[in-house]
Amino acid sequence: MNCIIKKNILSEGKTKKIYTTNNSLEVLIHHKDCITALNGLKKNFLQDKGVLNNEITTLIFNFLNSCGIKTHFIRKINNREQLCHKVDMIPLEFVIRNIVAGSMSKRLGIKEGINLYNPIFEIFYKNDKLKDPLINDHHAVFLKILSYEELNTIYGITLKINHIIKKYFSDKNIILVDFKIEFGKNHKNEILLSDEISPDTCRFWDKKTMKKLDKDSFRMGLKEEVFDIYMEILKRLNVS
Ligand code: UDP
Repeated sequence: MNCIIKKNILSEGKTKKIYTTNNSLEVLIHHKDCITALNGLKKNFLQDKGVLNNEITTLIFNFLNSCGIKTHFIRKINNREQLCHKVDMIPLEFVIRNIVAGSMSKRLGIKEGINLYNPIFEIFYKNDKLKDPLINDHHAVFLKILSYEELNTIYGITLKINHIIKKYFSDKNIILVDFKIEFGKNHKNEILLSDEISPDTCRFWDKKTMKKLDKDSFRMGLKEEVFDIYMEILKRLNVS
């Protein structure tokens, strides 16, 4: 295995820092101990949350790689960092919903918890100034972010990811209510699943008790419980 040299900081977001490495096609992603909600309006330090998310997202991306999904993830380097293929991030968030919750429930006035027999896709335009508005395919094409063909490719991959991880979590007594994913393009212009999948980016409910096992605990002000909840998810993922 080649030696990885961490070089310059490439970018820093709310919960992660990205570094260049001695290989121009690879980056190092560092998970910070920071938790945010409501587009960054609510923000807290949470000791070792970065360690938990690094481990959780590693388990999920390893699993998706093994199922043939093309992702940016190469391997975990240490308890906070992972090596990934360098991509240009597509400035869109793709939300997949299996059960009504969160913003969809508020926007459409529908009670949380209703089963969606077919998953619903939503696209949010990543733009802090505009507060990440909900857009549709035509807006994304008009903004020259993606072509219709690329959107179709992403919908196909997203459906597969949903199918794979819904079952993966269900086997661990976790209901995957909804989640957000992001994609990037590598140097060959291939679309790769990027960013992370963790309790920061998913709604998880316990299958038996329906307890919320994700960042909703933080959104609801239960800061003390958040670490234990993320730990519980990690424990369940580690049971095969
Ligand atoms: N989500 C995310 N980042 C965001 C917005 C949403 O990871 O900036 C995730 C969120 O955790 C949930 C799903 O996307 O699993 C759907 O979120 P929703 O649109 O319901 O908005 P929210 O409740 O986060 O305001």
